[in-house]
Amino acid sequence: MFQNDTICALATAQGLAAIAVIRLSGKDAIEIADKVFYKKDKSQYLNHQKSHTLHFGDIKDGEKWIDEVLISVFKGPNSYTGENTVEISCHGSVFIQKQIIELLLKKGARMANPGEFTLRAFLNGKLDLSQAEAVADLIASDSEASHKMAMQQMRGGFSKDINDLREKLIHFASLIELELDFAEEDVEFANRKDLKDLVENIQSRIKKLVDSFAQGNVFKNGVPVAIIGKPNVGKSTLLNALLNEDRAIVSEIAGTTRDTIEEEISIGGIVFRFIDTAGIRNTIDKIESIGIEKSFEKIAKASIVLYLFDLLNDDPQNVKNDLENIRQKMGNAEKPLLIIGNKADQNPSEALKIEFAEQENVIFISAKQNQNISQLTDKLLSYANAGLLQNDQTLLSNARHLDALNKTLEALNAVLHGLNNNITGDFLALDIRTALRHLGEITGVVEVDRDILGTIFSKFCIGK
Ligand code: GDP
Repeated sequence: MFQNDTICALATAQGLAAIAVIRLSGKDAIEIADKVFYKKDKSQYLNHQKSHTLHFGDIKDGEKWIDEVLISVFKGPNSYTGENTVEISCHGSVFIQKQIIELLLKKGARMANPGEFTLRAFLNGKLDLSQAEAVADLIASDSEASHKMAMQQMRGGFSKDINDLREKLIHFASLIELELDFAEEDVEFANRKDLKDLVENIQSRIKKLVDSFAQGNVFKNGVPVAIIGKPNVGKSTLLNALLNEDRAIVSEIAGTTRDTIEEEISIGGIVFRFIDTAGIRNTIDKIESIGIEKSFEKIAKASIVLYLFDLLNDDPQNVKNDLENIRQKMGNAEKPLLIIGNKADQNPSEALKIEFAEQENVIFISAKQNQNISQLTDKLLSYANAGLLQNDQTLLSNARHLDALNKTLEALNAVLHGLNNNITGDFLALDIRTALRHLGEITGVVEVDRDILGTIFSKFCIGK
């Protein structure tokens, strides 16, 4: 699968911009650039320049002058891909971008596939597989949380954890395999009790990673929140108040149906996805009652539930009934339910105030007057375990890694089972090898299926 022909692609976003960057990587990257680039000071070819240098000059197609550009030269193996690489910063006209790329293709480069630069970086040992995947996550990151996780993975934090575990297992395997060499003599190099302790220790570390997936996934993709409550209690006013808190990221994701409209709001570096805001925004729904069934669907999709009631107009018994229903529906799901009494700026009903005095999961706010909104956002952050981001604990966020870790656990269970039943070393060794292979798939130290590589890199943009 490895090719070192020279690939090229636009590395910056499609469309008009001040500057665009075109990337070339491969055996002939510098030679191809030399065929079209003329340095201003008429000095040597790029091929004669040092690595990591910058050059100002013209791109010309024969006598036809295309643009004035800056070119950076990186000589393999000291480049992102590990190959000779040239980056051309040209003026960001779409016409110029196209002209330069066409010219490079004419001179012997070919168009890069999605992720092909990073694939080459992986194949050349510049990054392991999980680090390569983190590059895609980093480019897609849209919040402090997703950025931090991608960054940690790209810098090798996660790979280090996995490699530590692999080394321990390799040590274990080598002891067992040594025994096999002396099978005739019936020696035991590996103390079975120590082996069991080791496997259990590795298992518990893997389980911790597996358990962190739910949290990691939520940090990566946003925390789904359901806002429910009767019409006119102030749900959309609250949503607006939250949107105003954070103007940085405001987006409406319109799905195929009106029902899937979500609002993303970034609070304290974490993206919260307010699900099915169409139901909230849509005035027709206001005629209906709370729309219990619809609310339950939302509760099922959410990991945090906000129940709003109206401190001025609601009847305590109705609120209690609603809450009863909601709690019943939530069952044992360990989802936080935050009860919010809205319209605290007016004179709230004494009955409601007494019935629902502020406590751990009850707060009084005024969505309209922006009162106590920060108390609400603090609650959201604590429910989302934002604190976990502060320490550098590794959080799993990639489904492929989760799958590999689960398979590793399975193989380790077989090892434990074998140890408990005194099976022979050769069978133990087989199960350990299986565990090692699955662990190795994460970082790509073992050969990874072509299809898997294809899937991973096809998700990248062209030019990365
Ligand atoms: P929704 O049907 O739950 O989305 O409710 P809305 O957000 O549309 O609000 C219904 C009515 O309550 C509107 O007239 C709002 O201006 C009003 N309202 C919302 N929040 C407050 C508040 O905190 N205080 C007061 N006094 N009125 C509010």
